Amino acid sequence: MKAAPERIDTGRPAARRVEVRGVVQGVGFRPFVWRLADRFGVGGWVRNRSGVVEILAEGTDEVLDGFCRALQEEAPPLAHVDSVKWEPAEAAGLSGFVVDESLDSGEGERLISPDVATCRACLAELFDPRDRRYRYPFINCTDCGPRFTIIESLPYDRERTSMRAFPLCADCSREYRDPADRRFHAEPVACPECGPRLELRTAKWKRVPGDPIARAAELLSNGKIVALKGLGGFHLACDATDEAAVAELRRRKVRPHKPLAVMVADLDAAHEIVEISAAEVALLSSPKAPIVLARDLGRLAPSVAPGHRRQGAMLPSTPLHHLLLREVGRPLIMTSGNRTDEPICIDNDEARERLAGIADAFLIHDRDIVSRYDDSVSRIWHGAPVVLRRARSFAPAPIELPTEMAPTLGCGAELHGSFCLAAGRRAFLSQHVGDLDTEESMRAYEDALERYRSVFRLEPEVVAHDLHPDFLTTRFAEATGLPHIAVQHHHAHVAAVMAEHRLEGPVIGVAFDGFGLGEDGTVWGGEFLVCEWGRADRAGHLRTVPQPGGDAAVRHPWRMAIAHAQDAGCLDAAVALIGDTAEDVEVVLGQIRSGLSSPLTSSAGRLFDAVSALAGLCPEATYEGHPAMLLEQAAETGATREYPFELSYEDARLVVDTRPIVEAVVGDLKRGRPAGEVAGRFHRTIAAATLAACRAIRGGTRIAQVCLGGGVFQNDLLVSDVVARLESCDFEVFVPREAPVGDGGISLGQVLVAHARMEG
Ligand code: ZN
Ligand code: ZN
Ligand code: FE
Repeated sequence: MKAAPERIDTGRPAARRVEVRGVVQGVGFRPFVWRLADRFGVGGWVRNRSGVVEILAEGTDEVLDGFCRALQEEAPPLAHVDSVKWEPAEAAGLSGFVVDESLDSGEGERLISPDVATCRACLAELFDPRDRRYRYPFINCTDCGPRFTIIESLPYDRERTSMRAFPLCADCSREYRDPADRRFHAEPVACPECGPRLELRTAKWKRVPGDPIARAAELLSNGKIVALKGLGGFHLACDATDEAAVAELRRRKVRPHKPLAVMVADLDAAHEIVEISAAEVALLSSPKAPIVLARDLGRLAPSVAPGHRRQGAMLPSTPLHHLLLREVGRPLIMTSGNRTDEPICIDNDEARERLAGIADAFLIHDRDIVSRYDDSVSRIWHGAPVVLRRARSFAPAPIELPTEMAPTLGCGAELHGSFCLAAGRRAFLSQHVGDLDTEESMRAYEDALERYRSVFRLEPEVVAHDLHPDFLTTRFAEATGLPHIAVQHHHAHVAAVMAEHRLEGPVIGVAFDGFGLGEDGTVWGGEFLVCEWGRADRAGHLRTVPQPGGDAAVRHPWRMAIAHAQDAGCLDAAVALIGDTAEDVEVVLGQIRSGLSSPLTSSAGRLFDAVSALAGLCPEATYEGHPAMLLEQAAETGATREYPFELSYEDARLVVDTRPIVEAVVGDLKRGRPAGEVAGRFHRTIAAATLAACRAIRGGTRIAQVCLGGGVFQNDLLVSDVVARLESCDFEVFVPREAPVGDGGISLGQVLVAHARMEG
């Protein structure tokens, strides 16, 4: 095989055997080849073989050159062509072009597109009264529709999806078999005659007569909460402009503050609620249709995202959502259908039981969801998308690794659970599975893993897990009976960035997050590591302070304020600021003095918590990163002056002394400086300290590549400032885009570290 060369056209018929590799199955590739062959007047055939599309093409050399170029250049939207290679074949004078519909033998690697939002062509039919699929909530074609949410195993054909339950009618069958049709081999193809059906049920599970969508829209317009079965699980919906409805949803779901995502009917409606750039428009309306964080215009009910300047917005991802949003004519809250901290519901009975008491009605259907997928969350940063929560439509698209590896499983950590199955040069980073601290969430995790193993036919030979012995994912790794390797949390954060950017290392890794067990048994989270794939040296860290009450300090950030203020020698002023009872303060000081249930921590997340509490922004944290997010949102970007900080060395290890920072924060607040100004100055200071530490490490090591990892770097203001400063001092800086920067991406780093350890 060779790449398409330049040739002199002889005008005589020639033949080529062509192989196309990449994401070429379940994306309409064969009909695309058929249409190309038709256009170029090429004879021959096309078939799927072991995850590769194989073509025999006959024509003149000139025609075949054009045909081969078009295979790459005009590939269907969901395809991702890695290579088009060909070798000469014997011309047999074939005139017609045939699509070989026979199923694949099942060997070899398979890549299938993830789920895709409704395409333009289907959308046009959906709202065309003359179309036979007019207002049909399950319309799809080869360019769009469900994929991994309905696939049970591969090869990808209807029999191995939850569409098996719906035999095709004559019309659908004809479309399915016609290579000229948009729905040729669209496995989930369906119509009102033969496909899934919608119904509306009351909270008591009584069937509501009439058009389910119109009736559901009525309920939503009247302030009710409707659970609806989406692509990867149930959503809970209510009117996002109705404060009473939103507040009621929060109360029922027991989700007091965490921002809620909003779905709007189309881009015009998106412009009404958020300020969006061209890049944000492109991301919102991409086939992935993720939640996009964008600047809020203040048109929604106040409790949709309290304290946030950004709003998560998305466009409809299924025909059902399109129909409902148009019918309602206003933005809807579209949040995952679960009680807070539980996995998202996927089947009707489960929803009926678990969402009882939350939903006033259920908009359901009879197509099973095979795999759970939450909505993905993303944002535009420096002109390109960054994934913050990788789920629907993103997973399980593979990430290319910097090295070949034996089948390896990374189990992730605890919060924002995900796993990563890697083999060869591909890493399949799973969808976000939720926090893995309950048996129930672990079951969802194991279900998802089972699906990946069978779909990708990957049996891990090595298992990587977090160093923390009590994480359920660690216990799971140990129970596999396979060789298992513990990977330090922050090393994994940095290695994930190295994996995504295919860096050989060594690099300076800056890992800022809430919590990860360190090699010395203390809690780490403000780390400067010198990292290779297989090893990490702790070159420096933020100053260590007690975390009084352990987890209680996460929920009550004022505890961290006390700990930092006590450390910095400004306790009295700090106590006056946070205004807590002397009794509470005494308890916390007692914990600090005795060291009982007060682990030592260098966590950057906890430092942000402390400052947020001192600034009076967040007395109680009700979701992960809550105090730090409010601090970022409050920060005045104009506040550029930095607070003092110091670098010192302890045992040849760099320590960023946070005491002068905390003292200055408390001093400013005591003088009555506004919280926004203090928050802004604090952000600048952490960025400056990060630069100073990286320069000091570069001085000793000559390493000038820096990887930023850990949930604290979800902070836009911080990460932008850190990157700008580092780049202005000639560092090369890497931030993750495909894998989440927080713990959702950690399993990717784990597989790289485990691989290097096994090799080493
Ligand atoms: Zn379509
Ligand atoms: Zn049909
Ligand atoms: Fe982390």
